[in-house]
Amino acid sequence: MTTQLFGCVCGQYHAPGKALGMFEKRVSVPLPFYVIEHPQGVALFDCGLHTDIGNPEDPYLKGLRAYGIDVTTEPEESVTNHLVRLDIDPARVRWVVLSHLHFDHAGGLHQVPNATIVVQRREWEAGFDDEVAAQHHLPRRFFDLGHKVKQIDGEYDIFGDGSVTCIPTFGHTPGHQSLRVRSEQGDHILVGDACNNHKIAESRHFPSPADPRHAEMNQSLDALLALRDASTVMIYGHDPEQWRDTPLLQGFRT
Ligand SMILES: [Zn+2]
Repeated sequence: MTTQLFGCVCGQYHAPGKALGMFEKRVSVPLPFYVIEHPQGVALFDCGLHTDIGNPEDPYLKGLRAYGIDVTTEPEESVTNHLVRLDIDPARVRWVVLSHLHFDHAGGLHQVPNATIVVQRREWEAGFDDEVAAQHHLPRRFFDLGHKVKQIDGEYDIFGDGSVTCIPTFGHTPGHQSLRVRSEQGDHILVGDACNNHKIAESRHFPSPADPRHAEMNQSLDALLALRDASTVMIYGHDPEQWRDTPLLQGFRT
């Protein structure tokens, strides 16, 4: 059995373009997560939305609307339904590698109760520091659910065979990380929110120009891009064009 990588969309994020470093007045972008089937077990990179986010009365969703942000999701886009579609029992997911603790990346943890969370130590610590968590919008309601947690410091090879490697890309949040996956589908770097889309990777037009996080985000992105070789495909965090144009991201078994 070889390593397989599947992309899945758990919903859409609708926001002013400037919130995502885009020039359009309003944009809709995909909220992705990824399924990695490895001979040693199933791992996810991020895990989508909490199923409550499908309810317009959810207090977190209502809070976002106050900022002109909305999220839409369909029942068939839940983590559970994507896994079942791929013939994977959610109870069998052994690891969830979290890029960071934002609601659209960590929200679906309740659907994979047996998984061990793999997270950068500084992200996990930020999530449990009330002041830092509030500043970075890390809502504990979605990730403090009693999972086993493996806190890591910097680069980490999950299976010890070089196929799935965490790469620290701090900046978007205190302990953000990306993931390199070498699979049957090729060599991919799942960038996460270290960079939202391919245009920003070129222009460095990050959201909110005055944001003090930009120096660290630039450094992290430079280091990540330097890992590429000719065959590496970068998959950006919330990139509507890339999602539409990349067959891998449709997430079906072939
Ligand atoms: Zn995100």
